[in-house]
This record gives sequence, structure tokens and C-alpha cells, in this order.
Amino acid sequence: MENKGVFHVKHFDVIVVGGGHAGCDAALVSARMGAQTALITLDKSGIGVMSCNPAIGGLGKGHLVREIDALDGAMGRVADKAGIQFRLLNRRKGPAVQGPRAQADRKIYQRAMLSEIEKSDNLQVISGEVIDLILQGTVIGGVVLADGSQVTAGAVVITTGTFLRGKIHIGDISRDGGRMGERPSVKLAERFDTLGLPLGRLKTGTPPRLDGRTVNWAMLEMQPGDEEPVLFSFLSESVSARQVSCGITHTNEQTHEIIEKNLNQSAMYGGHIDGIGPRYCPSIEDKVVRFRDKTSHQVFLEPEGVDDHTVYPNGISTSLPVSIQQSYVNSIHGLEAAVILQPGYAIEYDYVDPRALDNTLAVKNLSGLYLAGQINGTTGYEEAAAQGLVAGINAVRAVRQQEKVLFSRTESYIGVMIDDLTMRGVSEPYRMFTSRAEFRLSLRADNADQRLTARGIALGCVSERRQAVYNDKMERLGQARKILEEKTFTPKQVASVGLEMNQDGARRSGFQLLSFPKISFSDIIPLDAAFASIDIECQVQSERDALYANYVERQSRDATALKRDENCVIPHSFIFEGIQGLSNELQLKLTRARPSNIAQAAKIDGMTPAALMLLLAKLRQAERLRKI
Ligand code: FAD
Repeated sequence: MENKGVFHVKHFDVIVVGGGHAGCDAALVSARMGAQTALITLDKSGIGVMSCNPAIGGLGKGHLVREIDALDGAMGRVADKAGIQFRLLNRRKGPAVQGPRAQADRKIYQRAMLSEIEKSDNLQVISGEVIDLILQGTVIGGVVLADGSQVTAGAVVITTGTFLRGKIHIGDISRDGGRMGERPSVKLAERFDTLGLPLGRLKTGTPPRLDGRTVNWAMLEMQPGDEEPVLFSFLSESVSARQVSCGITHTNEQTHEIIEKNLNQSAMYGGHIDGIGPRYCPSIEDKVVRFRDKTSHQVFLEPEGVDDHTVYPNGISTSLPVSIQQSYVNSIHGLEAAVILQPGYAIEYDYVDPRALDNTLAVKNLSGLYLAGQINGTTGYEEAAAQGLVAGINAVRAVRQQEKVLFSRTESYIGVMIDDLTMRGVSEPYRMFTSRAEFRLSLRADNADQRLTARGIALGCVSERRQAVYNDKMERLGQARKILEEKTFTPKQVASVGLEMNQDGARRSGFQLLSFPKISFSDIIPLDAAFASIDIECQVQSERDALYANYVERQSRDATALKRDENCVIPHSFIFEGIQGLSNELQLKLTRARPSNIAQAAKIDGMTPAALMLLLAKLRQAERLRKI
């Protein structure tokens, strides 16, 4: 139900500000947990808009989507409905670093997300601009809208993306805007100033959109999706939308010459932007300057939808003037006659230093205020949605005066991200990579449900349908594991079905045999008829679980050690200065970061195991002294 500009006070349990990717999953989880929730956003029609690339997932990001899905978040389900090309990245590498990715139909994605919001119980959408926060001392009590109406709640989650004092740049022209065609959020940024929140400036960019009817597709190499699409949601069974291919082309020396000659006109290079941009998602200007030895860069031409002529040329984001954009686009093979429908642009915006937040994404010095998404210095839909989920869950728990819900680095990419953000802050827009996770062999996309769904059920944020699907899968998987572990074979028996095996006399179970990279499930079926009774889904999952079982065991020992350390709390009054043997630099960093436990201290840049041991010893000494 929508409610426009009402001038009286309305009360909810939780308010979520912003209907982007963080806001949608924050509002949905809050409502799923039974909290009366308001989703206040500038314009209802902007719910679920993909500001940039019409794609979900990828390396690291795909893992986040699976984790969001495991907790019954909406992003994976919606991406499956909207997916027009599915590709499993790193398919040839091990499952731990494979990333599901889907190119999405922009309009279907938006419609499907809006439908999730509209059909959700306990959730009301309010169109309006939040310009102020209601505070009683340091306790949040709600928000004030631009029309003067007030909405009150026990907790507020702010997810305003790139809108805080957003400024759009194309060449030397700049104008205020939260993204193309939308106004920025200035008053809320000013309110953040008065609250003393540490604000910084970041930037990001997007490529020009092309008219697909003017692209010479016949000249281009085409890339179809995977023959067997790997979907995001543990609940999805098949693709919904028509599947399409992408075109592949390349920039060339002429393209680079045009860009190089006009660098001084680029907003990013002409000195018009102060903010720091994403190193991992460079503009074409960045690529030409940073990789001068490369005479060509790949460009994927991705259709934005099945009934849309717009094409997203992935790889050429820019802030050059429109005429230069047109001329470098036309220098590219297959794009000689391509017409630009919307120019590329850069956007600069305020973000809040996430070190001002605790590990539930709550602002440390205020009670009941949570921040999630690009406002915390991240980039990407998946990072945003995952934060929305964490903030939404904790906002509900705070209103109900229940314990905080923390996600650790050892159990999820969500935990890795929250820990990185709140402990280290950001020096450029933060995006997820598998390399950020120390425990990535156990944090796989394929086992996100095994890692998180039971927890979600206990928290009350998982629907009955998912509970049933999950319980059924776990039961089948448990049965499969039992069969695989019960049956053991001598090396001779193993060799008798044509498998290479060390003739060391050791009996090995079916599960142990599957831990050998060269042995697949179909290889062990001839060993025992019971193996054939295991369904395909469990065969695949058992094969993966077995492959990583040894590593996982080792990692779980490390994780237990880390958990033990995590429990070693550092009291707020603990003084890091003057600890003998600890470098001045580390003393300073610890004093600044004020980690609340040893695991957090371990993440501080430059921290060594020796320094940690010293810190632990000092903490125990201080505790002994306190007890005397
Ligand atoms: P958003 O999706 O931006 O949503 C913010 C929401 O807040 C909007 O619904 C808005 O209406 C609402 N809002 C704002 N202010 C108020 C207010 N005061 N009151 C009420 N509602 C308000 N990501 C990548 O991964 N790679 C890229 O290359 C990339 N390039 C980008 C280029 C551009 C130009 C832009 C704009 C974004 C780009 N992104 C990119 C980022 C990606 O779009 C974001 O990371 C993602 O959308 C962030 O989600 P969010 O929920 O935090 O914010």
C-alpha cells in the first residue's frame, strides 16, 4: 500500500530510508521478522532500480547473493526471474571460487522487486524525501519528510546510496543529482554533518547506453549464456525470461588516441572531481592511462532487456564530454554507426566512514540508527543488499531489545564484508572478492544454505516454504552422507572399478574417495548399488563437500582458534599506549580503531601474530589484576 504526503505522525517498528538494493532487502527482512516496517523512498517507481550495470553476481558478489538467499533475502529470487543470461564464472576452477552471475532485464528486475515489496505483509511504502532525523538525546525516534510529516519508529535504517550531496559530471559540466535524472539528498547530508558523522567523498562512473538497433551485430563475436544455467536462489528451479547472447568487441589504438587527446576534458582527469573512484572498476580513461602498453580492451555489449533496444557497453565507463564519447564509441568495431541514448557520466557523493559503525551496522554513538549500502563506502548491488539484510535484522532485534546478531568472517562473506568495513574503513569504493575471505574454501556459493539457513530459521527471517525445502535437502544430504561414510572399500576393490588408488592397504569410505580431485561421483557408483540411490542434487553436493572436507577441517581448527580469540574481549578502558614490545605504529592504530575483541585487533593493518600474543598476555594480566 502506498501513502503520499500525509501531514500527521505515523508509527512503525522500523523505518527503512531508500528503496535501492540495501533498502529493499532491509525492509523485506524486517517485515519477514514480523516488525511493522515503513519503506520511505524518493519515488516508489525507483524501487529496485539498477543504477549501472544490469547484472547481478560475479566473483565474490555471487557468493553474497547466495548468502542473502540463504537468509531468504529477495535479491537471488528476483535476479533469477529477471536473468536473461546466466554464466558461472571461473567454471574451470574449483567450486570455492566459482561465481554465479546473471545479466538481468532491468525492467523485469524492478517489477519483480516491487512485487516482492507489495506482496510482503507488515510493509508499507511511503514516497517522500527524508530530510531530518528525530532524536531524543542520542536515541533515534524517527524521521521527518520534506512535506513536514513525521514518521516515528524504534529504529531507522538509512540506505541512500549515491544520493547524499550527489553530483553528476560529464566533461566540464556538472549538476546536482543522486543518479541520472534524479535529485540528490542534500538536507539529510547536512543533518549528518550536525550529528558529527565522519563523511568522505567517493566517485563512480557508468558508460554511455547505446541504441542496439544501430549496432552492427553481424560483425561481432557473440557470447551465449551457459547451456545449463546456474541460478542464484536455492528455491528457483528454472529460468523465467527469454535468454539472450552478448556481443563482444574491443577498443583499439584509434579509440585510445581519441581518449588520450581529450583527457583534459574528462571530469575525472580534468580536476573536476575530488572523490576517490573504484580501482577495480576503472573508467576507460583510467584504463588508457594506467595500462598504456595495452592497445585494446574488451567491451561486452549487454542487452538491457528482452524488449528493450538499449545496450550496456560493459567496460567503457567515462566522464568525457558527450561529443568525445560519441567519437570514441564510433571508433570501435561494430559500433561505427552506434547512437548514444544516454551519455556516460561520473557521480561523486558523500559516504559515511564505516568505522563509525559497530558490527551490526549501527552508528556507534547513537541508539537505533543503522546505515547500509553504498552510503557505507561500498559499491555494488550485492554488497548493498547484504548490508541491508544485516542492518534490517539488527534493527528489529534492537526494537525488541533482543541480542545483536553478528556475522563472523569464519561463516560468511557477509561477515567478511562487515568486519572489513567497520574495522578497516575504506580508502576507495569497497567491493567483494573471494580473495578477501580467509576461509573461502568453506565459504562456498554452493553451501551458503548449509552455512546460514538454520540460523535464519532461528532468527525468524525464513519463510515456511524455504524452511521446508531446506529441511528436506538437509535430510537427504544427511542420508547420503551416512551411506557414503558407512561403505568402506579396500584399495584393491577401488582399483577393480578402474580407479587409481595407492595400494596402502587402508580402507576408504565412499566419502573419502570423493575427496580425491580425480574421482567423481559417477566413478564410485560401480562400487556399491546404494550410491546409485542418492539423488543427483545430493551427489553433486556430496562430491563438493568431500573435495573440500580436509581443507575445511583445517580451516575449522583455525576458525575455532579465532573464535576463542574473538571471545577475548578488550575492555573499552584498556590502554594500548605504552605496551612494551608493541610498535608505536600499532599502539596508535589500536588506539584509533579501538577493537572490542582480539579477532578485530587481528584485522588491523600490520598486526602480527607476535603482537597479538603480546596483546593477549597484557589483557590476561590486566584481568588478573582486576580480580585481585
Ligand atoms: P541505491 O541503489 O542508490 O538506492 C538509494 C535509494 O535511496 C534510492 O531508492 C533513492 O530514491 C533513495 N533515497 C536517497 N535519498 C533519499 C532520501 N533522502 N529520502 C528517501 N529516499 C532516499 N556498482 C558497481 O558494482 N559497479 C559499478 O561500476 C557501478 N557504477 C555505478 C555508476 C553510477 C553512475 C551509479 C549511480 C552507481 C554505480 N554503481 C556501481 C553502484 C550501484 O548502483 C550501487 O552500489 C547500488 O545501487 C547501491 O545500492 P544502495 O541500496 O546502497 O543505493
